[in-house]
Amino acid sequence: MSSSTPCRLDQVQQLDESDPLAFCRQRFALPQHKIYLDGNSLGAMPAHVPARIEQVLKEEWAQGLINSWNDADWYPAPQRTGARIAHLVGAQAHEVIVADSTSINLFKVLVAALRMQPQRRVILAENGNFPTDVYIAQGVSELTGCQLQCVDPEQVMEALSEEVAVLSLTHVNFKSGRRYDMAAITARAHELGVLVVWDLCHSAGAMPVRLNAAGADFAVGCGYKYLNGGPGAPAFVFVAERHIPHLRQPLTGWHGHAKPFDFTHKYQPHPSLDRMLVGTAPQLGVLALEAALEAFDGVDLQVLRAKSEALTELFITLCDQQLQGLGVTLCTPRQAEQRGSQVSLSHPQAYPVMQALIARGIVGDFRAPDILRFGFAPLYNRYQEVWECVGALREILVSGEWNQPQFLARKSVT
Ligand SMILES: *Cc1c(COP(=O)(O)O)cnc(C)c1O
Repeated sequence: MSSSTPCRLDQVQQLDESDPLAFCRQRFALPQHKIYLDGNSLGAMPAHVPARIEQVLKEEWAQGLINSWNDADWYPAPQRTGARIAHLVGAQAHEVIVADSTSINLFKVLVAALRMQPQRRVILAENGNFPTDVYIAQGVSELTGCQLQCVDPEQVMEALSEEVAVLSLTHVNFKSGRRYDMAAITARAHELGVLVVWDLCHSAGAMPVRLNAAGADFAVGCGYKYLNGGPGAPAFVFVAERHIPHLRQPLTGWHGHAKPFDFTHKYQPHPSLDRMLVGTAPQLGVLALEAALEAFDGVDLQVLRAKSEALTELFITLCDQQLQGLGVTLCTPRQAEQRGSQVSLSHPQAYPVMQALIARGIVGDFRAPDILRFGFAPLYNRYQEVWECVGALREILVSGEWNQPQFLARKSVT
């Protein structure tokens, strides 16, 4: 713990007053009297999105009807939106496109990567990843006959070999918040001829990601977490420029065709990254995501990361100070460069403890079996919110307030 980390409320308030990103909070429509620390699960709504969607509905759809695909520029929205995300993940504009969900993009990219490595038969993945990433890799393994090998995160480097076709990792782990060294792992994988897929669900929009600087091959990521695209927002996919011309993804839908409106019968992939498209985009979702990304306008990503580190550091320091002896264990690395923008704590009663926090208007989430998870979105979270969250957590644990029937009963979405 750094000795300069503040531990009094007035010092914490001072951090908010001198926060260079303070102006971003008013870009969001946040509920009053709530502290929202779950932007890593569903990002908050940027305040201007409803007006944009109303325009899409009432003008572009109701009045423009089908002509809006051309006249309102609906058709190129996945590329336009991808270009905006490219800036956040260290890619060129034409290397990122918005399409489908993270799960589906991962499927497309894994199969495409295997097809580029016909002599190799192993997909290397990690234990403890977000389940869909592992389920999709299992499905790909079944379909292609390639072997899926899952290892613990510390074993990834030594498990790399010339048998491995593709390595699939998530940059920041959804449960622990632990972050991989993208550049070092990608470099080692490339020495052995292994292609790498990075899942950026918990990093895009929370920190500068440097895909091209790391030499990354492929990446996928989510639109509804730190990118704030709204519930079920479409996802994005990155393919390094050098791979685009020979990339063959398996879901050969008409929007990925070289000439979708020729309506010919033989599939021919589009020369550009458009070949990652499948069918018609969920247009309302794409346009909402595109509008939401304006919340990043004028934001320096180094400053964003500095605030993310400071928020997580403050949370860890306050937990150290205030939650001693209350059964809480820190599950996130203490070294800032080894974590993302979330902090996870374990506690045997994590589920009812989180329910009790939510009842007080402080929203984090629970991840089975025993994790209390707090996401810090540097665009809108304040230092004082961190202070209040840890104070409330202390009161709940000291008083046993969590031990009530309404907090103990499990809901379907946790
Ligand atoms: C959130 C998340 C997903 C979500 O996948 P969907 O297909 O959008 O449901 C996938 N992978 C990781 C690592 C995630 O954190």
